Amino acid sequence: MQVFDKKIAIQAYIEQLKKSGNTVGFVPTMGALHKGHISLIEAAKKECDIVVSSIFVNPTQFNDKNDYTRYPRTVDNDLRMLELAGCSIVFTPTEQEMYPEKDIRFFDLAGLDTRMEGAHRPGHFNGVAQIVTKLFETVLPDKAFFGEKDFQQLAIIKHITKQANLPIQIIGCPTLRETDGLAMSSRNTLLTQQERALAPKIYQVLTQLKKDINTFTLQELCARALQELSAEPLFSPEYLEVVDSETLLPVFSKEKNKRVVVCTAVKLGNVRLIDNIIL
Ligand code: AMP
Repeated sequence: MQVFDKKIAIQAYIEQLKKSGNTVGFVPTMGALHKGHISLIEAAKKECDIVVSSIFVNPTQFNDKNDYTRYPRTVDNDLRMLELAGCSIVFTPTEQEMYPEKDIRFFDLAGLDTRMEGAHRPGHFNGVAQIVTKLFETVLPDKAFFGEKDFQQLAIIKHITKQANLPIQIIGCPTLRETDGLAMSSRNTLLTQQERALAPKIYQVLTQLKKDINTFTLQELCARALQELSAEPLFSPEYLEVVDSETLLPVFSKEKNKRVVVCTAVKLGNVRLIDNIIL
């Protein structure tokens, strides 16, 4: 496995591989890797000759400075996991490398960034769009793999790729969960023992909502789910919304042939967890 921290070096290396006819799959990450990340590497390996991953804790997508400072950083272990998983190339740039002076970008995200995470994390998706476009320009992959765990992020990345006419196929991959249902996340390691024991309730509530789909209206289902979450004193739910999986606009009535997803964010102490379920 080759590790690069300079854009120019990784670009030249990948260019050679592409010239010899290899297809490139890309899995961007912020490190602190878990099996969810590795499942994206596996998906990329199945579809592409070469798998490139990146590890970069992107400062511009953190609206909360404390969250950025506390974000777990485990690069040595990450590199071991990537090598074991069969990743061929890893990009570990510095902040200076990704954000040289004056290279700050602003995106029109067509309203996809106004609700849910966007409403609660001002500037977050512009930060995501900045880093993803910069990484895409560096790696020039044929396919890029993202988790459905970050559902709104996935929709926004599909949008910017289409807007900019980038020849990159964006592939969404299912959420990997712990055995108790908690969505795997780098932030799970920041939970106290007590918070960790309660955290699976988020997915339990989403699963119950899905089970009750034919019994209640969507408004009733959301109200019941929010009530369940709020009943736990350590939970502070930020939102729970039923949205169209492509437009991310709220859905008020059940319609056949419409792919609909329920997204939620819950604060547990200092840790903010997100999850979703496709109905
Ligand atoms: P992150 O390092 O949190 O920025 O995530 C890097 C990529 O891994 C993103 O595409 C995430 O959506 C994806 N990811 C994070 N958690 C999971 C999970 N539990 N299952 C599948 N993919 C995930």
